[in-house]
Amino acid sequence: MGHATGDGLLVEVAGRLRSCLEPGETAARFGGDEFAVLIEDAGGETGATEAAGRIARGLSPPFDLDGREVFVTPSVGVALAPPGGGTPDGLLREADAAMYEAKARGRDRHAVFRPGMRAASAGRLELEGDLRRALGDPDREFRLFYQPQVRVGDGVVAGFEALVRWEHPGRGLLPPGEFVPLAEETGLIVPLGLWVLREACRQAGEWRRLQIGAGRPPLTMSVNLSARQLREPGLAGAVAEALGASGVGPDDLVLEITETALVGDSPSAVPTLQHLREWGVRIAIDDFGAGYSSLSYLKRLPVDQLKLDRSIVAGLDLDQTDLAVATSALALARALGLEAVAEGVETRGEAEKLAEVGCELGQGFYWQKPAPPKEAGLLALGPCPIHPTS
Ligand code: C2E
Ligand code: MG
Ligand code: MG
Repeated sequence: MGHATGDGLLVEVAGRLRSCLEPGETAARFGGDEFAVLIEDAGGETGATEAAGRIARGLSPPFDLDGREVFVTPSVGVALAPPGGGTPDGLLREADAAMYEAKARGRDRHAVFRPGMRAASAGRLELEGDLRRALGDPDREFRLFYQPQVRVGDGVVAGFEALVRWEHPGRGLLPPGEFVPLAEETGLIVPLGLWVLREACRQAGEWRRLQIGAGRPPLTMSVNLSARQLREPGLAGAVAEALGASGVGPDDLVLEITETALVGDSPSAVPTLQHLREWGVRIAIDDFGAGYSSLSYLKRLPVDQLKLDRSIVAGLDLDQTDLAVATSALALARALGLEAVAEGVETRGEAEKLAEVGCELGQGFYWQKPAPPKEAGLLALGPCPIHPTS
């Protein structure tokens, strides 16, 4: 919602914090969106966690920002000074490690520091350093895997989704779950995402030229964008540049954004998406059905494709309730004129049921796991349709 509104929220949060404090308690803003509360004579762990609960309750009613209701989800780390003192620095480090633990457990909760957390926090710092270093020359350690999207009815490959991996020198091949959240937290997702965009377009361009030679129809390339990238003013320019350098047409590029990223509703996101769509780039809502958002945003947002989350797809052939949810989601997509893609299709039963209820596209281990470029290239150019192994 912009910097000024963000500052306004911080002021409001500070005010609420102050009103939750009791005499002898001190609050300070540490930087960014981090606050510290110092409680003397906290009454041990019980007293300290009670105080954390009190603060969380104080922050839970919605904030009114320019007439809009906004909720915050505080993550609280609790650290207790050892008998006899300890150092302020040590106490803060422990509170920080506990706060990360609270975030990792799903935010909007508190965690009390335990010695094991120090190692986790050191590990995070080390990983962040590694990430910065690796981004100095992203071609060296980052890889893109590609997972086909197929026509559910006949298994013909319609496109690919690019999924990032990190060939970490000490830890081996890391899936995005192990570093994308950290990249988002630190802002490093911006340079990483830029590399992903360029590399996915480059690969799509290479396959495109071979496909033309083989007389095959064009395939789409889907790239994941994080909320942070969507807020970058240079995004549209970066997309134009990646397309230009690769020779891929805008209508063969799909940008995937999760509903939670969109619901944040930063004022620049919608015009940016509109701008990209005017060029012909397509926009997909990723993991639809996995979040808690309202449906009303679907009407307002410039999108083309709805990717139904695995939680909606799983078991729809076995359970009437699951089937009802999946068919309603498909009906919604149809009514809004959006293309539907079923994600995480794992079984023949799921695939057959999806075809029966009229879902056009699917993606999942049933057809193919995400694969390195060489292997995926065989699908891009090889005999179609895919014959599932299961
Ligand atoms: P996503 O965009 O929803 O990608 C689909 C994820 O589902 C992939 O996990 C894929 O391997 C997995 N998947 C595919 N088929 C099946 C199936 O049949 N069953 C099950 N259980 N899972 C299946 P992956 O590659 O680990 O990626 C996880 C998430 O990380 C992605 O979810 C996406 O949100 C994020 N991510 C991946 N690459 C990027 C990237 O370049 N940029 C950003 N911002 N996020 C990325
Ligand atoms: Mg995706
Ligand atoms: Mg998804």
